[in-house]
Amino acid sequence: MRDCDAILIGAGPAGAVAAAVMARRGLDVILVDKAHFPRDKVCGDFIGPHAVRELDELALGSALQSGNRVGAGSVFIEGREVLRSPLPTGSELPPFGYVIPRQTFDERLFRAACAAGARPLEGHTFADYRVEGETVSVTLRGESGERVLRARALIGADGSASLVALRMRGRPQPKADRLIALRAYYDGIAMPPGGVDVHFHAATFPGYFWIFPTGDGHANVGIGIASQTVAPPKRHLRDLMRDLIENDAAVLARLGPAAVAGKLAGWPLSTYNARLPIVAAPVALVGDAAGFINPINGEGIQYALASGRWVAEAIADAFERRTSLGTALAAYALRVTNEIGLDLELNRFIVAVATNRALNPAWLALLRVWCARAARDPEYLRVAAGVVAGLVPSRRLFDAAVRNVSFAEGFGLLRTTAPLAVARTTGAALTAVFREPAATLRWLANLCGAGWGSRHALLPPRA
Ligand SMILES: Cc1cc2nc3c(=O)[nH]c(=O)nc-3n(C[C@H](O)[C@H](O)[C@H](O)COP(=O)(O)OP(=O)(O)OC[C@H]3O[C@@H](n4cnc5c(N)ncnc54)[C@H](O)[C@@H]3O)c2cc1C
Repeated sequence: MRDCDAILIGAGPAGAVAAAVMARRGLDVILVDKAHFPRDKVCGDFIGPHAVRELDELALGSALQSGNRVGAGSVFIEGREVLRSPLPTGSELPPFGYVIPRQTFDERLFRAACAAGARPLEGHTFADYRVEGETVSVTLRGESGERVLRARALIGADGSASLVALRMRGRPQPKADRLIALRAYYDGIAMPPGGVDVHFHAATFPGYFWIFPTGDGHANVGIGIASQTVAPPKRHLRDLMRDLIENDAAVLARLGPAAVAGKLAGWPLSTYNARLPIVAAPVALVGDAAGFINPINGEGIQYALASGRWVAEAIADAFERRTSLGTALAAYALRVTNEIGLDLELNRFIVAVATNRALNPAWLALLRVWCARAARDPEYLRVAAGVVAGLVPSRRLFDAAVRNVSFAEGFGLLRTTAPLAVARTTGAALTAVFREPAATLRWLANLCGAGWGSRHALLPPRA
């Protein structure tokens, strides 16, 4: 006796899209969430061009209604604007994204999934599951006690602290995969609503501070940083963020007389790690629960939407054709690897390199010359800024033109930098090795692992 075809744990973007697609295909699905909608989700609220296209293709574009449309971005390094440009989307993507509070966006997707036929079960927390033959029994805890539901498939869409993933994998995601981030809303900002700001500082690199306007003088303001670094920041992220807001002239000019609305909220992000399984039939993970977060920019909504659709299509195909669910979920995992996995692996390597903060002066100097190049070379802008913004595959960084220009600019920087600055950076790096031998070894090991994994990204994509 089963209660439904599939149970989805988590009704954020990944779960809501998976539920909507399966319900449209005629499957009986139960969409469980521990919260009641509308609920807040700590996020930058930026729905990028990939996500906009995905929502349109799924006929869910109405979730973006009244969102603030942004078509440009500015990059600041240590308070100085080094690049301002339209979003480098090329011709395949819409040249804009939206900033829309998740409280609104997620509720719309949740209601759309329910309208498509998914059965909602709010206020219920996933506790555990057990597989018995071709049935998965899922234990939930609600306000009125514990209950068990049975289905043919279970999808974990329960976000970055996924309990479904923990039960499936039997171990938590390594701490080295984590980013930590803070977000606050501001009212009365002085910044025009059509663009987003990204600020890099040595104190918070590898990571960035953002101002994403939500329209009508409001903005989502936040900061994110890798949690495991060599030479970690000496101060709490909250103090670093306050410091930037109070003392960085560029940030002050953008925020003007704005005041914080509500509380500063923090949230961890678990970035992509290809060594961790995302399926163990009849269970599959999607969105943040699977670690589909871009390590370079912390974005995950586009991957949440896409993975929700992919898993739903795989399961619906298997049930309609009466073929093996195990084979369908293996095909889903392979699709993830081919469409986003290899790229996210390469991004993981790029970020692993930058987690040696002792070299921050060098990283920021390189970023500065690359931004200067991007400001005068549209193709370079399209690829280099596109990779940082998650708009083009990172493997394009190795296209001959981009690679050669990057190296040439890097060597140019080395030639023109005073020997004293080079000596200082090298000295700081060596000091970090002696001060933090364990962290340095961890960095090297992480680098080797990430490099080993990302080599796949440089091979021609599989058919
Ligand atoms: C500070 C910050 C800024 C970010 N900024 C951006 C950005 O600007 N753009 C972008 O694309 N991405 C951003 N991200 C990432 C983005 O928020 C996630 O990738 C996205 O929310 C993933 O969607 P999801 O559906 O997988 O998970 P979630 O949105 O986290 O949804 C998970 C759902 O599961 C429910 N749940 C959790 N545990 C249980 C349980 N045990 N039982 C039942 N229900 C449960 C939760 O209540 C929630 O509704 C940011 C993340 C952070 C932390």
